[in-house]
Amino acid sequence: MAKIPSALVQPWPSAGSIGADRRGLLASGEGIYVTDGHGRKLIDGPAGMWCVNVGHRNAELAKVMQEQALELSYNSPWYTTSSPADALADVLADRAPGDLNHVFFTTGGSSAVETALRIMQFANNVRGRPEKKLMVSRQGGYHGSTYLSASLNGRPRDQDWMDSATHLVRKLSSPDPFRRPEGMSIEAFEDGLVAEFAALIEKERAERIGAFVAEPIQASGGVIVPPPGYLKRMRALCAENDILFIADEVVTAFGRLGSVFASRDVFGIEPDMITFAKGVTSGYFPLGGVMVSARLFEELRRSNHPDAMFAHGLTYSSHPVGCAVALKNLELLEGGILDHVNALSGHFQTSLKSLEDLALVGEVRGLGLMACIECVADRVSNNPLTLDLEVGKRIDAHCQDLGLLVRPLINMCVMSPPLTITIEQVDTMVDILRRGISRTMD
Ligand code: PMP
Repeated sequence: MAKIPSALVQPWPSAGSIGADRRGLLASGEGIYVTDGHGRKLIDGPAGMWCVNVGHRNAELAKVMQEQALELSYNSPWYTTSSPADALADVLADRAPGDLNHVFFTTGGSSAVETALRIMQFANNVRGRPEKKLMVSRQGGYHGSTYLSASLNGRPRDQDWMDSATHLVRKLSSPDPFRRPEGMSIEAFEDGLVAEFAALIEKERAERIGAFVAEPIQASGGVIVPPPGYLKRMRALCAENDILFIADEVVTAFGRLGSVFASRDVFGIEPDMITFAKGVTSGYFPLGGVMVSARLFEELRRSNHPDAMFAHGLTYSSHPVGCAVALKNLELLEGGILDHVNALSGHFQTSLKSLEDLALVGEVRGLGLMACIECVADRVSNNPLTLDLEVGKRIDAHCQDLGLLVRPLINMCVMSPPLTITIEQVDTMVDILRRGISRTMD
């Protein structure tokens, strides 16, 4: 067996011992499949990291990348622009909800979240309200790996050691219906979540809270689909209190839920900003960005203080190759893949849901082409805590033996395959999961 250099493997639990040894090196990809260093072909269940939306080895994207690199290989975002960046900005403004018709490009999701928060602080400074700076996020949320974006994350392993960056952050409960108190209705659960935010605003005072940052569906937290009225009511509370609603659509945009942006099309809300990354290029090139409302953009421009221009310009943000590939990617998504997702998602969710008859499975939930299988120790208490917390990794290991990569998250397995997956391939995926989970129970 080839030795796998340790530098290739993330030292975190979800890619730990078993997963790392087996996953190690990927040699190539084609459509929904990847081939590992031992020549084994596996279904890419997580589409990389929720990103390879049009699938691997797409010749059209590869061609555009090469052509753009030969045409104009770099452009400084500080001084000039490029045709692909201009064209992409236009298309995104057209597809984004409401008046979100300005975009600040970044190099990925963390830098998009950072940029959105800098915009919040800058705009409040311009309006003479520099103390309006607290950021509200939620348990179970994930927003990035940089210092500030990570301090919004609602996972214990980020909170343990990040105290110095979290004094500006307040966390609300995760809107996780599966984990609501026993016997409580969904309606009462939703009311409680909204009341919790209202109480926080009351306690901290609206004049001190700058933004609420939320994934419409918490992805890495276990594909948490919130109660039906939750996002609209949280959005309304933000508007009433002049708190910016930042929808982190790094996972949910660009097709995962069957639309370009999900905020309006799927959840009926118009945020003040939307952060995006990953699927914008189907993972072929690092690119992200923040869609910003016209109102907010005007506030950024209102500052005429020479030292207080809103300075934004990562060296590689709006990279011409990234923007060119994003334009082609959007063409592919809108040229049939979004329709395919909308047609397939019912079957995808129902067939995964059938796994709930396995004793280890507490719940299967999801929307569009993203889903999570949550394992429990027993289905009376639904308690995950007494369960072997390596269970996700063990399911992943068994599934890999059977030809499927799974994204294990402690006691959960997340599925978000390339959007081009066919109905037959979904059935194969679910069949492997059934066998993999059954082997884990033996
Ligand atoms: N927001 C969300 C919702 C994410 O899922 C991620 C990445 N998994 C990020 C932000 C950070 O994106 P990146 O890794 O591109 O910095």
